[in-house]
Amino acid sequence: TSSKILVSACLMGKPVRYDGQCASQGTEKLLHLQEQGCLVLLCPEVAGGLPTPRAPAERISERIKSQTGDDFTDAFIRGAEKALVMCQDHNIKIAILKENSPSCGSDFIYDGSFTGTKISGSGIVTDLLRANGVSVFSEHTIDLALKLANQ
Ligand code: SF4
Repeated sequence: TSSKILVSACLMGKPVRYDGQCASQGTEKLLHLQEQGCLVLLCPEVAGGLPTPRAPAERISERIKSQTGDDFTDAFIRGAEKALVMCQDHNIKIAILKENSPSCGSDFIYDGSFTGTKISGSGIVTDLLRANGVSVFSEHTIDLALKLANQ
């Protein structure tokens, strides 16, 4: 594919998650695209100004609360806006983002109780990208994303 795809940096081995780790799931299917220069990697939370490691955070309606009681909403929104600008700059129409994240989740997020309970929902980044015409997939739906990219 010649058009680029936005990918959560933690899916490609970047240790940018809240716990300072990466999430390797999905990496292998995307490696050849990375080698061809087709991927644009971003961690919206880091781009929004949050440190790594950082306190885990969950989405409650339109706000993002950390487990330590801080309100991370502004940083998350800044990160989402940076993701959108990146898509616009690179004419990106497809994103593959890490499932369950309060930023990057596309089908599921945690419910805000910090008990590991997942609910249907999506992250702040996903919502902003979808509202602007970007199709958002996860590490579980990479094949669908690549099919769309090759159309
Ligand atoms: Fe990964 Fe997205 Fe969380 Fe960054 S914000 S660590 S890219 S899931």
